[in-house]
Amino acid sequence: RKSAEKFEFQAEVSRLMDIIINSLYSNKDIFLRELISNASDALDKIRFLALTDKEILGEGDDTKLEILLKLDKEKKILSIRDRGIGMTKEDLIKNLGTIAKSGTSAFVEKMQTSGDLNLIGQFGVGFYSVYLVADYVEVISKHNDDKQYVWESKADGAFAISEDEWNEPLGRGTEIRLHLREEAGEYLEEDKLKDLVKKYSEFINFPISIWSTKEVDVEVPADEDDSEDESPEKSSTEDEEVEEDGEKKPKTKTVKETTSEWEVLNDVKAIWLRSPKEVTDEEYSKFYHSLAKDFSEDKPMSWSHFTAEGDVEFKAVLFVPPKAPHDLYESYYNANKSNLKLYVRRVFISDEFDDLLPKYLNFLMGLVDSDTLPLNVSREMLQQHNSLKTIKKKLIRKALDMIRRIAEEDPDESSEKDNTDAEKTNDNDEKKGQYTKFWNEFGKSIKLGIIEDAANRGRLAKLLRFESSKSDGKLVSLDQYIKRMKTGQKDIFYITGTSKEQLEKSPFLERLTKKNYEVIFFTDPVDEYLMQYLMDYEDHKFQNVSKEGLKIGKDSKDKELKDSFKDLTKWWKDALVTENVDSVKLSNRLADSPCVVVTSKFGWSANMERIMQSQTL
Ligand code: ADP
Ligand code: MG
Repeated sequence: RKSAEKFEFQAEVSRLMDIIINSLYSNKDIFLRELISNASDALDKIRFLALTDKEILGEGDDTKLEILLKLDKEKKILSIRDRGIGMTKEDLIKNLGTIAKSGTSAFVEKMQTSGDLNLIGQFGVGFYSVYLVADYVEVISKHNDDKQYVWESKADGAFAISEDEWNEPLGRGTEIRLHLREEAGEYLEEDKLKDLVKKYSEFINFPISIWSTKEVDVEVPADEDDSEDESPEKSSTEDEEVEEDGEKKPKTKTVKETTSEWEVLNDVKAIWLRSPKEVTDEEYSKFYHSLAKDFSEDKPMSWSHFTAEGDVEFKAVLFVPPKAPHDLYESYYNANKSNLKLYVRRVFISDEFDDLLPKYLNFLMGLVDSDTLPLNVSREMLQQHNSLKTIKKKLIRKALDMIRRIAEEDPDESSEKDNTDAEKTNDNDEKKGQYTKFWNEFGKSIKLGIIEDAANRGRLAKLLRFESSKSDGKLVSLDQYIKRMKTGQKDIFYITGTSKEQLEKSPFLERLTKKNYEVIFFTDPVDEYLMQYLMDYEDHKFQNVSKEGLKIGKDSKDKELKDSFKDLTKWWKDALVTENVDSVKLSNRLADSPCVVVTSKFGWSANMERIMQSQTL
């Protein structure tokens, strides 16, 4: 075409497309849900803009916020059309090819190891999955602010954009035309598409219709010749029942006719508006998968569906995903990437709303639909709204309750406390080991929470798990630790280091272990920071056993011993006290080792020194 302008795909995008085209991945179905999800996003955007400016929707069919599927069996084209926001020429260039998203290279990398294309949507590159089934794709788009353009590519490293002077005007929105590959013929079957929409796009909040062509039997008046003819063989009414004796003469005849009409495939229902009692576990699970764009078989670990009443009214559904997303801690301090979608009175507002949840809970998925927030204000104004504070506070509470419940329902967690109870509930197999799983995926978030969220520190500390000198490879909670403290023990003992193996050999532990005290092992670098914020738990102070001031219960001989070794400690002091050594003291923590270097109470532990050094090097 004369007017076509050529562009090269950004290098990473090009690589991604090569991988997709050459993929042996068998589940090619996923392209459809990615396209429908994009169409739905585009519709959400226009509906949001229309809140403040109704004109924006146009008139007639353009006001119908819908998604339309159409098949052209002869030309082998499947098209998906939406009346969403559309794309300007610049949008087409940027969004479909020249600007790689942060997920692009991450996804390419992942493909090289696992090859599981199923997660493509989570990486923000779902569009390119069209090349699983098509070798040539056209994207026709009309945005209110621009003319209608066509983007096209055969995935050969380049794409072209032309002003559209030959297709029917779209009014507004986008039509994606997939010229299907030879082996993708199944996507020209209506039934296949209907199944896919049911399977993957159940929770799309806009009607999805297919241009459905049916052969139907139509009764038409029989013409004169036929009606006079008494022999059934001769009539064209093959399907019609004719009385055996031939007495009844047909006055009408049946002919096959093809008719086409739009058939709606989904019922648009908002699961969060239903009563939690009426929603099945399977429905929640499916809803999670569609929200998270995670179409693995893994079920969410837990969920919480509730209505908040009072000054600020809202409904919310929160999920703990089965796995941590690939970039959870990567950009922790830079991006505020909450995974909550915000709706106001059923209208989608944003999925990048700051401050609905604190950073450390960014691993949760879900949505909030508020009746209290105003609809017709800008996103920025909403962001300032007073109710948000209340919403946030309630969401945190519910989230922490939900996480606590994973632990409470996990028979592994309670087995030590009450064996008989665990045996009774054998239908709890699914919940068995769930909290350990949770902890392995998201434990770090809980620790970050303890550091950042002073108001909920106690609640978060309850969720903390660790190994200890007595845990035997299992995870222990602070409650369990306290329960089995020795009589007379006041403090909670812990030690920090690089590994359990290293810590088990530590001389700091000698006497404590001998006297049968339990010592917590903290081996994650974040633990050092954690313990600067976690001072006590239920009236028990934390005591780092590698620091000065360790008291292991009261010993009446303490004073006596101190006196009798006075000369020796004085001698050591004179010999050692320099800028590196503060003081020399008689130790009560050793059993076999003759001496040990401890850090002062408020100084950095040796482990912290090591962490700080590794960070500056
Ligand atoms: P994601 O949907 O995660 O952003 P995709 O690769 O699926 O990633 O889509 C890339 C971008 O292309 C979208 O963010 C959007 O800006 C644009 N886009 C894709 N499909 C449509 C559409 N039907 N209408 C408007 N914009 C679209
Ligand atoms: Mg997408």
